[in-house]
Amino acid sequence: MPKKRKKHGRRGRPSKPRKPRLSKIKVQAPKGTHDILPEEQKYWDKLRAVVAQAATNYGFGRIDTPVFEDVRLYIKGTGQNTDIVQKEIYTFKTKGGEQLALRPEFTPGIVRAYIEHGMKNLPQPVKLCSIGPVFRHDKPQAGRYRQFHQINFEIIGDPTEVSDVQIIQTFVSILKRLNLKKFTIFINSIGCLMCAPKYKKNLLSYYKKRLNRVCPECRRRFDKNPLRLLDCKNEKCKKVTNEAPQILDYLCDECRLHFKKVLEILDDLEIPYILNPYLVRGLDYYTKTVFEVWEDKDDSGQGALLGGGRYDNLVEMFKGKSTPAVGAAAGMERIISFLKKQDIKISEIEKPKVFMIQLGELGKRKSLKLFDEFQRNGIKVGEAFSKPSIKSQLKIADKEGAKIALILGQKEALEDSIIIRDMVSGVQETVLIEKVINEVKKRLKQ
Ligand SMILES: [Zn+2]
Ligand SMILES: [Zn+2]
Repeated sequence: MPKKRKKHGRRGRPSKPRKPRLSKIKVQAPKGTHDILPEEQKYWDKLRAVVAQAATNYGFGRIDTPVFEDVRLYIKGTGQNTDIVQKEIYTFKTKGGEQLALRPEFTPGIVRAYIEHGMKNLPQPVKLCSIGPVFRHDKPQAGRYRQFHQINFEIIGDPTEVSDVQIIQTFVSILKRLNLKKFTIFINSIGCLMCAPKYKKNLLSYYKKRLNRVCPECRRRFDKNPLRLLDCKNEKCKKVTNEAPQILDYLCDECRLHFKKVLEILDDLEIPYILNPYLVRGLDYYTKTVFEVWEDKDDSGQGALLGGGRYDNLVEMFKGKSTPAVGAAAGMERIISFLKKQDIKISEIEKPKVFMIQLGELGKRKSLKLFDEFQRNGIKVGEAFSKPSIKSQLKIADKEGAKIALILGQKEALEDSIIIRDMVSGVQETVLIEKVINEVKKRLKQ
């Protein structure tokens, strides 16, 4: 039964003043965002480490661009009529009146940086790698987020098929190093400014006669972004698409030869792929090679793990010198969920073999300092400084599998000494604090 609140304490003394009432609200993460909690980080660390290794192996330099840019970069670059710009981009006006956008993809920002920093004067091609968050106001659903993370590789300044293949190869090496073996590469060519328009014209006249047989979304695409009709996952639309004209029949000699060589090198490298004549990708800037990697043999699942292609006109569209380029981006959340689904074991970060235990005010203060010194000497040390009792700290040290516990109590703190306890045998020895690092080093070597 709850006690009645007394107005006055015992013997008529006034009770403590009441705590002022806090104003409270409840806030949750915005729809479509997610927290990456400590226990999830091992997957992210692993993926980032593998990406960094691949970047080094294939000669990519890291570039970090701002998460927001001039909105015109995406309207012009990604394309006015793309889903990204029409529906998904986050835009905002700053207090200074600038129109900015949270980056929905990396490529336009990287092209801007390439031009802005005069990278055309560097030896070509310039190979750049990025990793970070992107933002799209998409319908949130399983595996789709409004803030998600991408790995992005670009090769700017090489017109040859070698770069197309190297981008694919780099990503394949990443997936393989993560032990992801079940994936399929779909590839196509969507031509260039010379040959694509004729194809689009024929495609439009094909669909024009069949508009009553496609979904409302496709009817909208018909006016704005006709290539995307080929992309629709609706069963009704797929039937129509299956008989649509194929871009491969319209490619000019240059595009045909380029594509042929890409496929030949992939064959040489024994990288398997499926030619999908209806693969177009959602963005405006692609020319020639486009590709996607899916986790299964068909492309109807949750979405591609990664996708990309050549974009030979984008640099010029931002008033750079005409510069051919190719790139691709992978969704980190997708790859990580793929990793988890396949039950791939990610080795835990190595746990410290030394655990520091402290008692009392002075003991704690000295422990913090010593803890720092161990880090400087490259020795990982575990701790539970927030636990007050030696018993509870020892329990954690045991659970964490520490070999050595260092105990710094009041007495030791006053004497500038410390107890070294062998966690297996339970044998304890007291040494001077100044000698403890060397002593621990010696014991860890045994
Ligand atoms: Zn062409
Ligand atoms: Zn459709």
